[in-house]
Amino acid sequence: SFSAEVVPQAPEDPLFGLVRAFKADQHPTKVDVADEILRNDPNLDHEYAPIAGIASFTSKAAELILSAESPAIKEKRVTSVQTISGTGAVHLGALFLARFFPGTKKVYVSNPTWVNHNQIFSNVGVPVGQYPYFSKETKGLDFEGMKAAIAEAPDRSVILLHACAHNPTGVDPTLDQWKELAVLIRQKGHFPFFDTAYQGFATGDLMKDNAAVRYFVEEGFELVIAQSFAKNFGLYGERAGCFHFVTSPGPNAADTVTRVASQLAILQRSEISNPPLYGARIVSTVLNDAELFAEWEGNLRTMSGRIIEMRKVLRAKLEELGTPGTWNHITDQIGMFSFTGLTEAQVLKIREEAHVYMTKNGRISMAGLNTNNIDYFAKAVDKVVR
Ligand code: PMP
Repeated sequence: SFSAEVVPQAPEDPLFGLVRAFKADQHPTKVDVADEILRNDPNLDHEYAPIAGIASFTSKAAELILSAESPAIKEKRVTSVQTISGTGAVHLGALFLARFFPGTKKVYVSNPTWVNHNQIFSNVGVPVGQYPYFSKETKGLDFEGMKAAIAEAPDRSVILLHACAHNPTGVDPTLDQWKELAVLIRQKGHFPFFDTAYQGFATGDLMKDNAAVRYFVEEGFELVIAQSFAKNFGLYGERAGCFHFVTSPGPNAADTVTRVASQLAILQRSEISNPPLYGARIVSTVLNDAELFAEWEGNLRTMSGRIIEMRKVLRAKLEELGTPGTWNHITDQIGMFSFTGLTEAQVLKIREEAHVYMTKNGRISMAGLNTNNIDYFAKAVDKVVR
């Protein structure tokens, strides 16, 4: 973990420090001649966001993934930086660990995982290892394989975990399994790196979908979180995301957070300087308004409920058709994706013959199915599996 010594305090960026000082200055005749674009005019809609992003966005983003009652938030053990969506958050985390992580500079990701994880880490010089995740036999979690690999990894490695609705498999550990993983990760001194891109997609309940992260934080882990609002806000192209560093409780916690924040600001400054405004403003508006928040929660429930319904219908249709194999994994898996178990040859065949397009690994997005096409889809699957 980050002892009090390893991360030195970095100086504040001079220009942004000046802007901050100008904004804080209450003098009636204050004048800003530092930069024309950075005038403190509340009507100007295209000012730079602060380097760490819009505070009303990052603070609510932290509450969303950690819960407003989180001990980490109350004890000021969290520092958050607005990023270029989830990709930017994973990248900033990877860069930070590449620079400062005192343990084994190797990250272990699930096999399979979101493909971009591999290149984001390797591009900043952090080698990537894998832990087994998906069992081809059960089409569920290979929990024993996962634990064995995490146990075998060198002590104090980085372990990347999908907070919920695992991409691409749709398979998540149960809360009991998360608890076992936490024990193991603690024993090994590993550093958890959570990636959360689908909060609200697994159960439709935001506070259930963050249960794993909350558990690790309650257990006192020091960890990081890469958070995307692309999916749950439908803001894909607006690049609204957030990176959170949470330190463990202790007398040095506030100091650690301050120093880590200062270094994150340097990394951010050299990469993007200022995160984009528009998507973060939308998210901030919703997260800071009780009525809009409730409406958004309702939308998430509708959306995830529709996906769950499509899973039931698809499984029932395949079982009705007597399609060879077992299909319980369709309803056991959660979130946006399902790993159908179709082979690459079957994927190519269903594309050729039925014009059904899925990725070669047999992953389907449940969101692409609806009451109009599900019958056609089930029959097409039935045909290629026979
Ligand atoms: N992590 C995972 C697991 C994802 O599936 C995605 C999106 N496919 C992301 C992060 C980041 O996406 P974005 O940069 O669009 O937020």
